[in-house]
Amino acid sequence: MTVDGSWQRAARGAGLLGDDGSIAPTIFAEMSALAVQTGAINLGQGFPDEDGPAAVLDAAVAAIRGGGNQYPPGIGIPDLRLAVAEHQQRFYGLAVDPDREVLITAGATEALAATLLALLEPGDEVVTFEPFYDAYGALIALAGGVHRTVPLRLPGFQPDLDELRSAVTDRTRVILVNTPHNPTGTVLSTDVLQAVVELAERHDAYIVTDEVYEHLTFGPRHVPIATLEDARERTITISSGGKTFNTTGWKIGWVTAPTDLITAILTVKQFLTYVNGAPFQPAIATGLRLGDEYFAGIAAELGRKKDLLSSGLASAGFDVFASDGTYFVVADAAPLGYDDAVTFCRELPLLAGVVAVPLSAFCTGAYAASTASLVRFAYCKRVEVLERAAAQLAVLGRTS
Ligand SMILES: *Cc1c(COP(=O)(O)O)cnc(C)c1O
Repeated sequence: MTVDGSWQRAARGAGLLGDDGSIAPTIFAEMSALAVQTGAINLGQGFPDEDGPAAVLDAAVAAIRGGGNQYPPGIGIPDLRLAVAEHQQRFYGLAVDPDREVLITAGATEALAATLLALLEPGDEVVTFEPFYDAYGALIALAGGVHRTVPLRLPGFQPDLDELRSAVTDRTRVILVNTPHNPTGTVLSTDVLQAVVELAERHDAYIVTDEVYEHLTFGPRHVPIATLEDARERTITISSGGKTFNTTGWKIGWVTAPTDLITAILTVKQFLTYVNGAPFQPAIATGLRLGDEYFAGIAAELGRKKDLLSSGLASAGFDVFASDGTYFVVADAAPLGYDDAVTFCRELPLLAGVVAVPLSAFCTGAYAASTASLVRFAYCKRVEVLERAAAQLAVLGRTS
Protein backbone atom coordinates (compact mmCIF):
# COMPACT_ATOMS: atom_id res chain seq x y z
CA MET A 1 0.00 0.00 0.00
CA THR A 2 1.39 3.41 -0.83
CA VAL A 3 1.12 6.13 1.70
CA ASP A 4 0.48 9.49 0.20
CA GLY A 5 -0.71 12.68 1.59
CA SER A 6 0.62 15.63 3.37
CA TRP A 7 3.90 13.93 4.36
CA GLN A 8 4.91 14.37 0.73
CA ARG A 9 4.05 18.04 0.81
CA ALA A 10 6.08 18.44 4.01
CA ALA A 11 8.99 16.45 2.58
CA ARG A 12 8.93 18.44 -0.65
CA GLY A 13 8.78 21.69 1.31
CA ALA A 14 11.78 20.57 3.34
CA GLY A 15 13.65 19.62 0.16
CA LEU A 16 13.73 15.95 1.15
CA LEU A 17 11.65 14.35 -1.59
CA GLY A 18 13.73 12.84 -4.40
CA ASP A 19 12.57 12.73 -8.05
CA ASP A 20 11.65 9.09 -7.56
CA GLY A 21 9.41 10.01 -4.62
CA SER A 22 11.78 8.55 -2.03
CA ILE A 23 12.54 10.50 1.10
CA ALA A 24 16.14 11.35 1.99
CA PRO A 25 17.28 11.61 5.61
CA THR A 26 18.01 15.16 6.69
CA ILE A 27 21.60 16.29 6.76
CA PHE A 28 21.04 16.98 10.48
CA ALA A 29 20.26 13.31 11.13
CA GLU A 30 23.22 12.24 9.01
CA MET A 31 25.62 14.57 10.82
CA SER A 32 24.34 13.68 14.30
CA ALA A 33 24.79 10.00 13.44
CA LEU A 34 28.34 10.76 12.26
CA ALA A 35 29.04 12.55 15.55
CA VAL A 36 27.92 9.47 17.49
CA GLN A 37 29.84 7.04 15.24
CA THR A 38 33.10 8.97 15.32
CA GLY A 39 32.89 10.49 18.80
CA ALA A 40 33.37 13.91 17.21
CA ILE A 41 32.36 17.14 18.96
CA ASN A 42 28.86 17.95 17.73
CA LEU A 43 28.69 21.60 16.67
CA GLY A 44 25.99 20.66 14.17
CA GLN A 45 22.77 20.74 16.13
CA GLY A 46 21.94 23.84 18.16
CA PHE A 47 21.33 22.72 21.71
CA PRO A 48 23.26 23.75 24.84
CA ASP A 49 25.30 21.15 26.74
CA GLU A 50 24.59 22.70 30.15
CA ASP A 51 21.45 23.12 32.23
CA GLY A 52 19.76 26.47 32.59
CA PRO A 53 19.08 28.43 35.80
CA ALA A 54 18.43 26.38 38.94
CA ALA A 55 15.38 28.49 39.83
CA VAL A 56 13.71 27.43 36.57
CA LEU A 57 14.55 23.75 37.02
CA ASP A 58 13.40 23.86 40.67
CA ALA A 59 10.11 25.44 39.65
CA ALA A 60 9.44 22.54 37.26
CA VAL A 61 10.25 19.97 39.95
CA ALA A 62 8.02 21.81 42.43
CA ALA A 63 5.18 21.92 39.90
CA ILE A 64 5.48 18.16 39.29
CA ARG A 65 5.55 17.46 43.04
CA GLY A 66 2.77 19.95 43.61
CA GLY A 67 0.29 18.18 41.35
CA GLY A 68 0.60 20.36 38.25
CA ASN A 69 0.44 17.32 36.01
CA GLN A 70 -2.95 17.42 34.30
CA TYR A 71 -4.15 19.25 31.18
CA PRO A 72 -3.57 22.97 31.57
CA PRO A 73 -6.05 25.38 29.90
CA GLY A 74 -5.83 25.30 26.08
CA ILE A 75 -4.64 28.88 25.93
CA GLY A 76 -1.95 28.22 28.59
CA ILE A 77 -1.83 28.62 32.38
CA PRO A 78 -2.83 32.14 33.48
CA ASP A 79 0.42 32.81 35.32
CA LEU A 80 2.60 32.05 32.28
CA ARG A 81 0.39 34.21 30.05
CA LEU A 82 0.80 36.98 32.62
CA ALA A 83 4.59 36.44 32.72
CA VAL A 84 4.76 36.68 28.90
CA ALA A 85 2.76 39.93 28.99
CA GLU A 86 5.01 41.32 31.75
CA HIS A 87 8.07 40.32 29.72
CA GLN A 88 6.83 42.13 26.59
CA GLN A 89 6.21 45.25 28.69
CA ARG A 90 9.47 45.08 30.61
CA PHE A 91 11.81 44.52 27.66
CA TYR A 92 9.98 46.23 24.79
CA GLY A 93 7.34 48.52 26.26
CA LEU A 94 4.61 46.49 24.58
CA ALA A 95 1.31 46.35 26.48
CA VAL A 96 -0.20 42.92 25.88
CA ASP A 97 -3.45 41.61 27.39
CA PRO A 98 -2.51 38.29 29.06
CA ASP A 99 -6.05 36.90 28.69
CA ARG A 100 -6.74 37.86 25.08
CA GLU A 101 -3.44 38.47 23.31
CA VAL A 102 -1.20 35.61 24.51
CA LEU A 103 -1.30 31.92 23.57
CA ILE A 104 1.03 29.25 24.99
CA THR A 105 2.15 26.58 22.49
CA ALA A 106 4.27 23.44 22.21
CA GLY A 107 7.40 25.40 21.41
CA ALA A 108 7.85 28.01 18.73
CA THR A 109 7.45 25.18 16.22
CA GLU A 110 3.80 24.55 17.06
CA ALA A 111 3.20 28.30 17.16
CA LEU A 112 4.56 28.55 13.60
CA ALA A 113 2.58 25.52 12.43
CA ALA A 114 -0.72 26.66 13.95
CA THR A 115 -0.22 30.21 12.67
CA LEU A 116 0.49 29.16 9.08
CA LEU A 117 -2.34 26.60 9.09
CA ALA A 118 -4.69 29.26 10.45
CA LEU A 119 -3.74 32.00 7.99
CA LEU A 120 -3.04 30.28 4.68
CA GLU A 121 -5.47 29.28 1.95
CA PRO A 122 -4.05 26.86 -0.61
CA GLY A 123 -1.86 28.80 -3.04
CA ASP A 124 -1.26 31.78 -0.75
CA GLU A 125 2.32 32.96 -0.84
CA VAL A 126 4.66 33.19 2.13
CA VAL A 127 7.81 35.27 1.78
CA THR A 128 10.85 34.36 3.91
CA PHE A 129 14.47 35.29 3.73
CA GLU A 130 16.95 32.65 2.62
CA PRO A 131 18.69 30.74 4.13
CA PHE A 132 15.77 29.89 6.44
CA TYR A 133 15.14 27.73 9.49
CA ASP A 134 14.41 24.32 8.01
CA ALA A 135 10.90 23.92 9.45
CA TYR A 136 9.61 26.93 7.51
CA GLY A 137 9.68 25.25 4.10
CA ALA A 138 7.95 22.12 5.40
CA LEU A 139 5.28 23.99 7.39
CA ILE A 140 4.43 26.34 4.52
CA ALA A 141 4.05 23.31 2.25
CA LEU A 142 1.91 21.45 4.82
CA ALA A 143 -0.40 24.46 5.01
CA GLY A 144 -0.73 24.44 1.21
CA GLY A 145 1.21 27.68 0.82
CA VAL A 146 3.73 28.69 -1.82
CA HIS A 147 7.16 29.63 -0.50
CA ARG A 148 8.96 32.66 -2.01
CA THR A 149 12.43 33.50 -0.76
CA VAL A 150 14.55 36.64 -0.70
CA PRO A 151 18.29 36.00 -0.46
CA LEU A 152 20.35 37.36 2.41
CA ARG A 153 23.41 38.87 0.76
CA LEU A 154 26.98 38.23 1.90
CA PRO A 155 28.92 39.35 3.82
CA GLY A 156 26.39 40.94 6.20
CA PHE A 157 23.47 38.59 5.46
CA GLN A 158 21.02 41.47 4.99
CA PRO A 159 18.55 41.38 2.09
CA ASP A 160 18.56 43.76 -0.86
CA LEU A 161 15.48 45.92 -0.29
CA ASP A 162 14.58 45.97 -4.00
CA GLU A 163 14.62 42.18 -4.05
CA LEU A 164 12.39 42.20 -0.99
CA ARG A 165 10.01 44.68 -2.65
CA SER A 166 9.67 42.58 -5.77
CA ALA A 167 9.01 39.36 -3.81
CA VAL A 168 6.05 40.79 -1.87
CA THR A 169 2.89 41.13 -3.96
CA ASP A 170 -0.88 40.98 -3.50
CA ARG A 171 -0.53 37.19 -3.53
CA THR A 172 1.56 37.40 -0.35
CA ARG A 173 -0.45 36.39 2.70
CA VAL A 174 2.43 36.22 5.18
CA ILE A 175 5.91 37.69 5.48
CA LEU A 176 7.73 35.35 7.85
CA VAL A 177 10.73 36.99 9.50
CA ASN A 178 13.31 35.49 11.86
CA THR A 179 15.60 37.82 13.75
CA PRO A 180 18.10 37.18 15.33
CA HIS A 181 18.51 34.80 12.43
CA ASN A 182 19.22 31.08 12.36
CA PRO A 183 21.39 29.89 10.54
CA THR A 184 23.42 33.06 9.81
CA GLY A 185 23.59 34.73 13.25
CA THR A 186 22.61 38.02 11.65
CA VAL A 187 20.33 40.60 13.26
CA LEU A 188 18.15 42.17 10.58
CA SER A 189 18.60 45.92 10.36
CA THR A 190 15.83 48.30 11.36
CA ASP A 191 15.65 49.42 7.70
CA VAL A 192 14.79 45.88 6.70
CA LEU A 193 12.17 45.52 9.44
CA GLN A 194 10.69 48.87 8.45
CA ALA A 195 10.49 47.75 4.81
CA VAL A 196 8.73 44.55 5.89
CA VAL A 197 6.10 46.58 7.74
CA GLU A 198 5.56 48.94 4.78
CA LEU A 199 5.24 46.07 2.32
CA ALA A 200 2.88 44.13 4.59
CA GLU A 201 0.66 47.20 4.83
CA ARG A 202 0.76 47.92 1.10
CA HIS A 203 -0.17 44.34 0.19
CA ASP A 204 -2.36 43.61 3.20
CA ALA A 205 -0.19 40.75 4.43
CA TYR A 206 0.44 39.45 7.93
CA ILE A 207 3.87 39.56 9.54
CA VAL A 208 4.87 36.44 11.43
CA THR A 209 8.04 36.96 13.41
CA ASP A 210 10.15 34.23 15.00
CA GLU A 211 12.11 35.78 17.86
CA VAL A 212 13.33 32.72 19.76
CA TYR A 213 16.83 34.25 20.04
CA GLU A 214 15.51 37.60 21.32
CA HIS A 215 17.81 37.54 24.39
CA LEU A 216 20.87 36.16 22.63
CA THR A 217 22.34 39.19 20.85
CA PHE A 218 25.81 40.67 21.28
CA GLY A 219 25.35 44.17 19.94
CA PRO A 220 22.30 46.40 20.13
CA ARG A 221 19.23 45.02 21.93
CA HIS A 222 16.69 43.06 19.92
CA VAL A 223 13.92 45.11 18.28
CA PRO A 224 10.61 43.23 17.92
CA ILE A 225 8.79 44.11 14.70
CA ALA A 226 5.61 44.61 16.73
CA THR A 227 7.19 47.73 18.28
CA LEU A 228 7.49 49.48 14.89
CA GLU A 229 4.85 52.01 13.99
CA ASP A 230 1.67 50.52 12.49
CA ALA A 231 3.04 46.98 12.74
CA ARG A 232 1.18 45.72 15.76
CA GLU A 233 -2.26 45.02 14.26
CA ARG A 234 -0.88 42.68 11.59
CA THR A 235 2.01 41.09 13.49
CA ILE A 236 2.08 37.65 15.10
CA THR A 237 5.11 37.46 17.41
CA ILE A 238 6.45 34.03 18.29
CA SER A 239 9.03 33.10 20.89
CA SER A 240 9.93 30.24 23.18
CA GLY A 241 11.72 29.42 26.43
CA GLY A 242 14.03 26.79 24.94
CA LYS A 243 16.89 29.02 23.82
CA THR A 244 16.64 31.59 26.62
CA PHE A 245 16.61 29.10 29.52
CA ASN A 246 18.63 26.18 28.05
CA THR A 247 15.49 24.05 28.07
CA THR A 248 15.13 23.14 24.39
CA GLY A 249 13.53 19.80 25.35
CA TRP A 250 10.67 21.41 27.25
CA LYS A 251 8.94 22.92 24.23
CA ILE A 252 7.17 25.83 25.86
CA GLY A 253 6.53 28.57 23.32
CA TRP A 254 4.14 31.47 22.96
CA VAL A 255 2.38 33.74 20.52
CA THR A 256 1.46 37.35 21.13
CA ALA A 257 -0.92 38.95 18.63
CA PRO A 258 -4.21 40.86 18.41
CA THR A 259 -7.17 38.95 19.85
CA ASP A 260 -8.81 37.90 16.57
CA LEU A 261 -5.54 36.38 15.38
CA ILE A 262 -5.00 34.57 18.70
CA THR A 263 -8.51 33.11 18.36
CA ALA A 264 -7.76 31.85 14.82
CA ILE A 265 -4.42 30.33 15.88
CA LEU A 266 -5.93 28.75 19.02
CA THR A 267 -8.65 27.16 16.88
CA VAL A 268 -5.97 25.22 14.99
CA LYS A 269 -3.66 24.69 17.95
CA GLN A 270 -6.34 22.93 20.02
CA PHE A 271 -6.44 20.14 17.43
CA LEU A 272 -2.66 19.85 17.04
CA THR A 273 -1.47 19.27 20.61
CA TYR A 274 -4.43 20.76 22.52
CA VAL A 275 -1.96 21.50 25.36
CA ASN A 276 1.52 20.49 26.53
CA GLY A 277 4.08 20.73 29.31
CA ALA A 278 1.83 21.55 32.31
CA PRO A 279 4.63 21.59 34.93
CA PHE A 280 7.04 23.38 32.59
CA GLN A 281 4.69 26.30 32.05
CA PRO A 282 5.05 27.73 35.60
CA ALA A 283 8.80 27.06 35.40
CA ILE A 284 9.11 29.19 32.25
CA ALA A 285 7.04 31.88 34.01
CA THR A 286 9.71 31.84 36.75
CA GLY A 287 12.38 32.20 34.07
CA LEU A 288 10.71 35.14 32.35
CA ARG A 289 10.66 36.95 35.72
CA LEU A 290 14.39 36.45 36.45
CA GLY A 291 16.33 39.66 37.07
CA ASP A 292 17.97 41.74 34.36
CA GLU A 293 21.37 40.32 35.37
CA TYR A 294 20.27 36.88 34.16
CA PHE A 295 19.35 38.12 30.68
CA ALA A 296 22.46 40.31 30.37
CA GLY A 297 24.57 37.44 31.69
CA ILE A 298 23.46 34.83 29.15
CA ALA A 299 24.12 37.20 26.25
CA ALA A 300 27.57 38.14 27.58
CA GLU A 301 28.54 34.53 28.20
CA LEU A 302 27.33 33.37 24.80
CA GLY A 303 29.12 36.31 23.17
CA ARG A 304 32.41 35.10 24.67
CA LYS A 305 31.74 31.61 23.32
CA LYS A 306 30.99 33.07 19.90
CA ASP A 307 34.33 34.94 19.99
CA LEU A 308 36.17 31.82 21.07
CA LEU A 309 34.81 29.64 18.26
CA SER A 310 34.98 32.40 15.63
CA SER A 311 38.65 33.05 16.32
CA GLY A 312 39.36 29.31 16.35
CA LEU A 313 37.74 29.00 12.94
CA ALA A 314 39.68 31.99 11.61
CA SER A 315 42.98 30.55 12.92
CA ALA A 316 42.17 27.26 11.21
CA GLY A 317 41.92 29.13 7.90
CA PHE A 318 38.18 29.69 7.42
CA ASP A 319 36.71 33.00 6.36
CA VAL A 320 34.38 33.70 9.27
CA PHE A 321 31.23 35.83 9.03
CA ALA A 322 30.20 38.05 11.92
CA SER A 323 27.57 36.53 14.20
CA ASP A 324 25.56 39.17 16.08
CA GLY A 325 23.30 36.76 17.90
CA THR A 326 21.75 33.23 18.13
CA TYR A 327 23.78 30.06 18.70
CA PHE A 328 25.46 30.05 15.29
CA VAL A 329 28.33 31.32 13.19
CA VAL A 330 28.81 30.76 9.45
CA ALA A 331 32.27 30.09 8.04
CA ASP A 332 33.53 29.60 4.50
CA ALA A 333 35.53 26.43 3.87
CA ALA A 334 36.72 27.61 0.41
CA PRO A 335 40.05 29.01 1.69
CA LEU A 336 40.76 25.49 2.99
CA GLY A 337 40.28 24.09 -0.50
CA TYR A 338 36.66 22.94 -0.17
CA ASP A 339 34.08 24.25 -2.64
CA ASP A 340 31.36 21.93 -1.39
CA ALA A 341 30.36 22.18 2.26
CA VAL A 342 28.41 18.90 2.11
CA THR A 343 31.59 16.98 1.24
CA PHE A 344 33.54 19.03 3.74
CA CYS A 345 31.06 18.32 6.57
CA ARG A 346 31.15 14.58 5.78
CA GLU A 347 34.96 14.61 6.08
CA LEU A 348 35.28 17.01 9.01
CA PRO A 349 34.62 14.44 11.79
CA LEU A 350 37.50 12.32 10.50
CA LEU A 351 39.79 15.26 9.71
CA ALA A 352 39.29 17.23 12.92
CA GLY A 353 36.81 15.38 15.16
CA VAL A 354 34.18 18.11 14.74
CA VAL A 355 30.67 17.98 13.28
CA ALA A 356 29.02 20.97 11.56
CA VAL A 357 26.25 21.37 8.97
CA PRO A 358 26.41 22.80 5.45
CA LEU A 359 24.44 26.01 4.95
CA SER A 360 22.71 24.30 2.02
CA ALA A 361 20.53 22.50 4.61
CA PHE A 362 18.73 25.85 4.99
CA CYS A 363 18.47 26.81 1.32
CA THR A 364 16.73 26.07 -1.94
CA GLY A 365 18.54 25.47 -5.24
CA ALA A 366 19.91 28.75 -6.55
CA TYR A 367 20.98 30.20 -3.22
CA ALA A 368 22.52 26.88 -2.18
CA ALA A 369 24.65 26.94 -5.33
CA SER A 370 25.95 30.43 -4.56
CA THR A 371 26.78 29.59 -0.95
CA ALA A 372 27.99 26.02 -1.52
CA SER A 373 31.18 26.30 0.54
CA LEU A 374 29.53 27.78 3.66
CA VAL A 375 29.23 25.85 6.92
CA ARG A 376 27.21 26.54 10.08
CA PHE A 377 28.86 25.92 13.47
CA ALA A 378 27.04 26.04 16.85
CA TYR A 379 28.83 27.75 19.75
CA CYS A 380 26.21 27.07 22.47
CA LYS A 381 28.60 24.61 24.15
CA ARG A 382 30.79 24.63 27.26
CA VAL A 383 33.99 26.67 26.97
CA GLU A 384 36.22 23.62 27.33
CA VAL A 385 34.34 21.90 24.50
CA LEU A 386 34.80 24.94 22.24
CA GLU A 387 38.49 25.17 23.19
CA ARG A 388 38.95 21.52 22.30
CA ALA A 389 37.06 22.02 19.01
CA ALA A 390 39.24 25.04 18.15
CA ALA A 391 42.41 23.09 18.91
CA GLN A 392 41.27 20.17 16.75
CA LEU A 393 40.18 22.45 13.89
CA ALA A 394 43.71 23.90 13.80
CA VAL A 395 44.88 20.74 11.98
CA LEU A 396 42.95 21.93 8.91
CA GLY A 397 45.21 24.95 8.55
CA ARG A 398 48.26 22.73 8.80
CA THR A 399 47.13 20.23 6.17
CA SER A 400 45.86 22.57 3.46
C1 LIG B 1 15.08 26.46 17.76
C2 LIG B 1 14.26 27.27 16.82
C3 LIG B 1 12.87 27.14 16.77
C4 LIG B 1 12.12 26.07 17.52
O1 LIG B 1 11.79 26.45 18.79
P1 LIG B 1 11.03 25.41 19.75
O2 LIG B 1 10.56 26.26 20.85
O3 LIG B 1 12.03 24.37 20.15
O4 LIG B 1 9.93 24.80 18.94
C5 LIG B 1 12.16 28.00 15.95
N1 LIG B 1 12.78 28.90 15.17
C6 LIG B 1 14.12 29.02 15.16
C7 LIG B 1 14.75 30.04 14.28
C8 LIG B 1 14.92 28.20 15.97
O5 LIG B 1 16.25 28.29 15.92
